[in-house]
Amino acid sequence: MHPETRALHVGWHADKPGAPLVPSWDPATVFRHPDRGLSRDSWSYTRLDNPNRDQLEKTLTSLESGAEALAFASGMAAVQAVFHILSPGDHVMLPDDLYHGVRNLISDQYQRWGLTFDFVDMTRPDAVGKAATDRTRMLWMETPSNPMLKITDIIALSRLARERGWISVVDNTWTTPAVQRPLVLGADIALYSTTKYLGGHSDVLGGAIVLRQSNQIPGEDNETALADKLRTLQRQAGAVPSPFDCWMMLRSLKTLFVRIRTQAASAQRIAEKLSEHPDVEKVYYPGLPDHAGHHIAEAQMDSPGAMISFRVRGDDETALCAVSASRLIVPATSLGGVESTWEHRKTSESEGTATPGNLIRLSVGLEHPDDIWNDIDQSLTRCRFR
Ligand code: PLP
Repeated sequence: MHPETRALHVGWHADKPGAPLVPSWDPATVFRHPDRGLSRDSWSYTRLDNPNRDQLEKTLTSLESGAEALAFASGMAAVQAVFHILSPGDHVMLPDDLYHGVRNLISDQYQRWGLTFDFVDMTRPDAVGKAATDRTRMLWMETPSNPMLKITDIIALSRLARERGWISVVDNTWTTPAVQRPLVLGADIALYSTTKYLGGHSDVLGGAIVLRQSNQIPGEDNETALADKLRTLQRQAGAVPSPFDCWMMLRSLKTLFVRIRTQAASAQRIAEKLSEHPDVEKVYYPGLPDHAGHHIAEAQMDSPGAMISFRVRGDDETALCAVSASRLIVPATSLGGVESTWEHRKTSESEGTATPGNLIRLSVGLEHPDDIWNDIDQSLTRCRFR
């Protein structure tokens, strides 16, 4: 079956007479044991497993063509689980442009636990090779990156990671498996903040990890499977989504493909118009032919996605003015919802960010693209020459 069909029928399919067309929501935290006590084959306690999480994880596994998926309470809970695979002294390479929450987590928390790390320009595989140390264990990618939309060649860097015995991870939040499938491109782990496009309606928080078919931990003598290690972490630490959140997420996945295709088509039109607007200095969108990563994006993504960053002619004040002048696009952080949102990204990030002050990050929603464009145009025009 095609992925669009799997999104609707893998986690739940009404295959018996009288079965509900959609799954039920099971709020129970505790399940009755079989006669001979707790068994691995039956539900027991909701932190360990539950029907709604199982349905969600099956669907995510299938959409990614992976071996196994694990759902978490947030994207950052999923990120934390991945870093927990590592041991003190291990070295991680991350992109020089990435979601600031991951940057903060690793420098504020994991440095104290003895992890070492480098932020590298992943558009240059030679820079990755140079930054590696004999303790490197993990290569973390994010493509397109947040907020500068740099494109990393997933095939090339996953191959390098495999050759060198590093675990390769792709934060695929901005694209989703409907656009880019990191495991098929060779990465070991695809990671998501499902809060964004997978949820799609800005009303449910979540995270997920999906693992490739052959998922032995590179460099470990005992050939431990990543899935076993992560499943144990998920169950022991318990940063899991509630059954209702899983139910909501599964419901959202049914419309993922139509949402993201429409949003990406609108984003392409808007990015083209932005690049011709007199008040715009530069547009960062991989669908534009002059984007540095355009060709790699064409090869590894089904569409350039629905996130655009652009710099206005002017400074922080001009960008702040434009964002607050909108009448339709909501000034707000996060992304991937059906309503268009935008933000002055620098003020949303932590101190010391390298994000330019005149940069606006736009998440293109499902409104008619002409309405989105008219709002952008009137906002920029109102703030001209500030
Ligand atoms: N990864 C990326 C690329 C993100 O944009 C975010 C959140 O904005 C996260 C991870 C963290 O996800 P969450 O907010 O669901 O914890």
